[in-house]
Amino acid sequence: MDDQVTSIALAICRGIPDAWEPQRVVLGPCECPGNPHGEDVAYLSPQKAAQRLAQLYLAAQALVRGEPVEDPDVRRIALLPDQASNQLSGIVVAAAATVAWDLQDETGAPIPISADTIGQLSGEGAAPFALWIDRVLAPGFAAWVSTLAS
Ligand SMILES: [Zn+2]
Repeated sequence: MDDQVTSIALAICRGIPDAWEPQRVVLGPCECPGNPHGEDVAYLSPQKAAQRLAQLYLAAQALVRGEPVEDPDVRRIALLPDQASNQLSGIVVAAAATVAWDLQDETGAPIPISADTIGQLSGEGAAPFALWIDRVLAPGFAAWVSTLAS
């Protein structure tokens, strides 16, 4: 499955310049306690995002075939209704893509990067991740999926 993940990820990344380089994404005005930053920033790797997307895709296919799937994120996603499952898929991909961010807690310690912490971002906090996935990853993924039909 790992070879398959790699080849799908490469296909998704085909149209992305410098897919190995994390991209700087502004999350919005700083929402950390005490507002130490002008704006909050995350660094997202297209290649890591594509790899996680490929894993989710293959695991979802395996679930459909009735095969056992160990990936806990996929099991959570599969239990949700459509809209919520799409949202959680995006959060899981965003967590895999995020190599760094400047988010801090009230003690000034960095907030760990995970699907849970991204899911807990207040208000519109998670929107820039979803927009980034739509803009950077979705075209390559759609192009790859369309090759399956032919
Ligand atoms: Zn901040």
